[in-house]
Amino acid sequence: MVATKEPETLKHSMLNIGTLGHIDHGKTSLTRAITGVWTDKHSESIKRNMTIKLGFADAIIRLCKKCNEYTVGDSCKQCGGKPEPLMRISMLDAPGHETLMATAIAGSSVIDAILFVIAANEPCPMQQTKEHLMIINVLGIKNVIIVQTKVDIVGRDAAVEHYKQIKAFVKGSVIENAPVVPVMPNLGVNLDILLGKMAAIPVPQRDTTSEPLMYVVRSFDVNRPGADATKLVGGVIGGAVIKGTIRKEDKIEIRPGFRNEKLKKETYEPIITIITGISNGTEQIDEATPGGLVAFSTEMDPAFTKADTLVGNAVGLVGKLPPVINKLSMKYHKLARDDVPEQRIMENEPLIIGIATATTVGYVKSAKKDRLEVELKKPLSIPNNMKIAVMRNVAHRWRLTGYGQIS
Ligand code: ZN
Repeated sequence: MVATKEPETLKHSMLNIGTLGHIDHGKTSLTRAITGVWTDKHSESIKRNMTIKLGFADAIIRLCKKCNEYTVGDSCKQCGGKPEPLMRISMLDAPGHETLMATAIAGSSVIDAILFVIAANEPCPMQQTKEHLMIINVLGIKNVIIVQTKVDIVGRDAAVEHYKQIKAFVKGSVIENAPVVPVMPNLGVNLDILLGKMAAIPVPQRDTTSEPLMYVVRSFDVNRPGADATKLVGGVIGGAVIKGTIRKEDKIEIRPGFRNEKLKKETYEPIITIITGISNGTEQIDEATPGGLVAFSTEMDPAFTKADTLVGNAVGLVGKLPPVINKLSMKYHKLARDDVPEQRIMENEPLIIGIATATTVGYVKSAKKDRLEVELKKPLSIPNNMKIAVMRNVAHRWRLTGYGQIS
């Protein structure tokens, strides 16, 4: 597909939209209907590593002004005319119930809005749906659209009854007044109405002037195996800018950086490199600001970036990144989960810690009241204001038990 040049205004009209909802309620097919991409393609690597990783896919919502029809396609379904681009969206998804919730908390600094998927063929709320509303309340995300799926399976009357259950369920929560849109993603029914509601979500005020900070979501070596060494292209990193502006030709620092394998202890060394190109997925741009996901081409050795090696690293201007820490001191908030038994956090207990796109194992050094001191297996460069997802091993499964903030 040939990249079409979008109007200048679209570059800053970009929303990151997360999806929440009970497993099998149709999140992935909804995301696919909107973006044409399955976002659960990383599920195997997540099962292996328990990595909290954002899946993402972009789309442009367009409007045919003649027919008042919203679409993500290049032509209007009604009249065949050319619709006007309104907003770029980046859909963020993560497979599995526990990782999805942990990702929503860890990635909350880049999530602008949520599609909350609830299927009509099961009573509302199901257990996971209840827990997702809890997460929405914790994060205080008000830009939520409730998407009622599988209405085609149950028929009209049952769908209306289910709609009433949803309204009763969200009453008194931060999303009490969220719109509920019944959608049949596979048939494309009501997708235009949902897209219209998404395009109406206000783009938050972006901080483009403070010290830039981005976290690596993906990193790759784009060279073919066995490629001519003199023609090698530098490593590529992708991520979501949290604040500030990162420009082409900027000299950047990546921390904690690469692991120095020569040393026995896990030691990381910062990487300093130059950005040679920025892509927003459809075109080359000169600068990256918050909203949406971007990929940077760099001059660094592609060996550093192969196979997502740099996921979780912070990217910023040289000398301007948050400190790299090995120990976290945080205020911990326990989540009320019905199926996770009350258990005091013990000294030396291993935890999985998720911050931004970084996931690491941590060992509890002290746990007093709501204060946790955790030693991190892998160091992280993070500012104090980020939300931290905390997972504990409960009956041989990693469960999200709470969240915290450095203090
Ligand atoms: Zn039209």
